[in-house]
Amino acid sequence: MTEVPVRYRDSRLIDESGKLYQGDFLLHKDGSWSKSKGDEDVKFNLNGSDRLITRSLQNWHTHLSMILNRGMGEDLPLQRWLDEMIFPTEKKLTKELVELGTKAACAELIATGTTFACDMYYFPKEMANGMIDSGIRGIAGGTITDFPTTSYPNGPEQAINDLDKLLKEGTGNSRVEYAVAPHAIYTCGKETLIKSSELARKHQSFLITHASETRNEVATCHKENNCYPIEYLDSIDFFSKNKTALAHCGWLKKNEMRLMAKYDSKAIHCPTSNMKLGIGGTMSYPAMKEAGVDIRLGTDGAASNNSLDLRQEAKMASMIQRHDHWDASILNPQELWKLATKGSKDWVAWNIDDIRMQPHGIDERRLLANIVYSNADCLDVWVDGIELRHGGITMSLNMDEISEKMKHSVKDYYDGI
Ligand SMILES: [Zn+2]
Repeated sequence: MTEVPVRYRDSRLIDESGKLYQGDFLLHKDGSWSKSKGDEDVKFNLNGSDRLITRSLQNWHTHLSMILNRGMGEDLPLQRWLDEMIFPTEKKLTKELVELGTKAACAELIATGTTFACDMYYFPKEMANGMIDSGIRGIAGGTITDFPTTSYPNGPEQAINDLDKLLKEGTGNSRVEYAVAPHAIYTCGKETLIKSSELARKHQSFLITHASETRNEVATCHKENNCYPIEYLDSIDFFSKNKTALAHCGWLKKNEMRLMAKYDSKAIHCPTSNMKLGIGGTMSYPAMKEAGVDIRLGTDGAASNNSLDLRQEAKMASMIQRHDHWDASILNPQELWKLATKGSKDWVAWNIDDIRMQPHGIDERRLLANIVYSNADCLDVWVDGIELRHGGITMSLNMDEISEKMKHSVKDYYDGI
């Protein structure tokens, strides 16, 4: 019989249905859990009386390596922020910086209870390596644009060929996969979008893009194509059924929501990024839910959020949805937690004695609300039966080395900005 990774004694566990259990628990390698009889063969036998065990958080829209840009250009409007801060630094981006930035970002994810990131950035091989080294699950989406980038100086054709090769080879790791990520309809022409979609279908990979983020994008799309962004993507046969993830979706009409549902496309709600950049429009959760769209949460990059903590994103999601719809009943703690952890196969143990979890009462509703609204210490993180974090210390990454490298490496990156 296979050894069970861990037994937590005298603990509390909330499963994916949002139900609270108390007692002794086994967390199995395949991601399932069961009650312990106390005599099983386990690798770790832990006192869980100070812990609350839940499914882990899932971050569906990131640019992990942009942790290197955190705090740059605060207060600038979107276009100046991009032109004066983000684009000039990204011209100096290297493979080494992307791998380092990805690892540093993964350290933040693990420390805040997240075990999955759907990432979109440059140098996909190094993005995947950073995620693999950290032990999280992830999607490494190589960004494609019509203009040359540091990872693809010869433009979109080079990007498509390189991603084709990577997708054929695979990452060599069962938890991390490559994906195709054309940046947006305003940075990719029709041909690039179609070729990206064909490539994703050929390899059955995820197809990731930004869609309907700003009013300008929506208005320009209508002016040029006589239709709105999701209608436009549908008209060029962009969607790959059940494998498309669209970030933002802030300005959708109802028929665009129905199109997203028809293709089982994921819509990624990124409220903090939208509010920080003064976008003015955020996804309508109730309308998207009613249309049957698969909604997920994402932080976006640390440059346009400053945090990769999905608990804060969940809090922002419930705040903006209630505020926008004049309805305090939207996204109650259990529904919010389901949204933030949807699809998770992994586990997190929070410090239930943390003052921010007090008073925790006896029901799951209050416990989950405390995690999301107040933030508790993330003590242990388990992925595939592997312990990425224990007792508040991340085991899978060398934090001293990452911090030291971050200090030195970003000096050149910021030079002249
Ligand atoms: Zn983004």
